[in-house]
Amino acid sequence: MSAAYPRPDPVAEDDLRFWANVAAGELRIQRCADCGTHRHPPRPICAACGSTAGDWVPASGRGEVWASTVIHPPTLAAFASRTPYAAVVVRLEEGVFVVGNVVDCPPDEVAVGMPVEVTITEVEPGLRLPLFRASR
Ligand SMILES: [Zn+2]
Repeated sequence: MSAAYPRPDPVAEDDLRFWANVAAGELRIQRCADCGTHRHPPRPICAACGSTAGDWVPASGRGEVWASTVIHPPTLAAFASRTPYAAVVVRLEEGVFVVGNVVDCPPDEVAVGMPVEVTITEVEPGLRLPLFRASR
């Protein structure tokens, strides 16, 4: 909170917590301490009951592809060498949605409804991302 302009800080604090957990090799999501509703992306208030109390709980990491697209060039230069790749929205068992990529699977074989599990992957030195792979 800023002394010059008192107001709640933006949600970056919650985002930082999410990414710190990923950096530690864990996929954790927020759960309301009052009603138990999971929430993601991270945010300071429960959309179900309005509570600001919450915990960071381990996610199962299991879910299914809810939406999918295959990225082809042209794209941002930083991603050009990775094309084509699948960008997905995964609905975790906890009911929240996580955006990521599916690895170890040809992008044109990624389909809505495909069961997946998270794999926290170091994509470059010092950077871990929650990616997904097909599960059986
Ligand atoms: Zn709640």
